[in-house]
Amino acid sequence: MPAPALAPALPDTPAEILPGLAELIASDLAPKVVDIDLKGVYPGDFLKQLGALGGLGSLTPLECGGTALGLGHAIQLIEEVSKECVSTGFLLWAEYALQWYVINSANRELAAEMLPKMARGEVLGGTAQSNSMKSCVGIEEARLKAKRVDGGYVINGVLPWVSNIGPEHYFHMGATLPDTPGLVIGLMHGSTPGLTLAQNAHFIGMEGTNTFACQFRDVFLPDSRVVCHTDDFSEFRDRTKSAFILLQMGMGLGLVDACVAMMKRADKQFGHVNRFLDVQADALEAELDAARAATYALAAKIARDGSAPHVRETLEVRLAGSELSLKAANAAMMHMGAKGYLSNNAAQRRLREAYFIAIVTPAIKHLRKELHEFDTAACALSQPELEVA
Ligand SMILES: Cc1cc2nc3c(=O)[nH]c(=O)nc-3n(C[C@H](O)[C@H](O)[C@H](O)COP(=O)(O)OP(=O)(O)OC[C@H]3O[C@@H](n4cnc5c(N)ncnc54)[C@H](O)[C@@H]3O)c2cc1C
Repeated sequence: MPAPALAPALPDTPAEILPGLAELIASDLAPKVVDIDLKGVYPGDFLKQLGALGGLGSLTPLECGGTALGLGHAIQLIEEVSKECVSTGFLLWAEYALQWYVINSANRELAAEMLPKMARGEVLGGTAQSNSMKSCVGIEEARLKAKRVDGGYVINGVLPWVSNIGPEHYFHMGATLPDTPGLVIGLMHGSTPGLTLAQNAHFIGMEGTNTFACQFRDVFLPDSRVVCHTDDFSEFRDRTKSAFILLQMGMGLGLVDACVAMMKRADKQFGHVNRFLDVQADALEAELDAARAATYALAAKIARDGSAPHVRETLEVRLAGSELSLKAANAAMMHMGAKGYLSNNAAQRRLREAYFIAIVTPAIKHLRKELHEFDTAACALSQPELEVA
């Protein structure tokens, strides 16, 4: 984990982060976490209420209906929600990812139309960018193909898993054009003709995330809904990538925090024997503090310099976040003992959530591949040298 270069002063308590946040989590999220996890209940109302409080708008400018409180603030919100439930923290990340692409789009009419509704939670949505991100670094082929037609593109293909969507939601997709580098990225509505959303898989966690397979059969993407055309793609990717990925740290930080708290509670009764376990709460908490400091310092640097100079450090911080999440969830299970093995106990849920943090794009294997390619100068990404401040 790189040493934090900046130590931004951030609000500490949920009340300072967002007035009403703690109350909303206590009344509308905490009692539903087991149903979200085991019964697949989708916390859409919670997201809408959070939007009404201003909790979806940290990245969005004031004139577009946001709060403009910044990247660090958005990560803090995801962290607070993930302390309770990583499924919902992931949905909140998806909300921020959705807006982040529109904020960075050259299509200002689209931004003016959509951002105010997105920032206030009047419309919800996510992002189907896993395949795009993996295709950009040579992990897999782009699964969506676009054809240029009058006034837009026609899209065909299948994406296996996209979360926080439904017939009323929006999401971003990325598709390739024949013999053209880059991707066209568009904003899709869930009820667009030719688009089929199928919920035909069940997961061992994240069941409440409204995750669908998306089949595109001659789906028309009008130019008015294009976020980025192929000729703008590499610049668009470079200016969005770091924040898009760093936002996911909110999930890991929240999860590790919850695991430390669980271990401390268990140790009150079983500390005399838990002290023989490999990972102790105080040591884990120190690692959490370091991960937190690195994340929020990096968020401040990205806010200051833009995304492009900080891609490598973002990949490192995100990788460390995944590894720490797995370590913390495993340690929490060990400290809880048999209680943690009960189907409604948070410890085993945290274990399944931690695996999701480690496999969702960019997964651990993806992050290590990209970092390897940075180190061997084989990476397709531009990484401008950053002048030392
Ligand atoms: C609960 C959940 C929610 C997700 N939400 C999103 C989201 O909102 N947006 C998004 O873009 N991605 C989403 N993903 C995908 C995720 O980010 C990863 O891309 C995915 O887990 C596969 O990553 P991988 O690199 O490990 O590929 P691998 O698991 O190694 O798979 C390799 C390839 O095979 C495909 N594949 C594997 N199993 C199947 C299957 N059963 N059917 C069809 N194709 C398959 C994979 O998609 C991938 O293209 C979600 C995944 C899960 C499990």
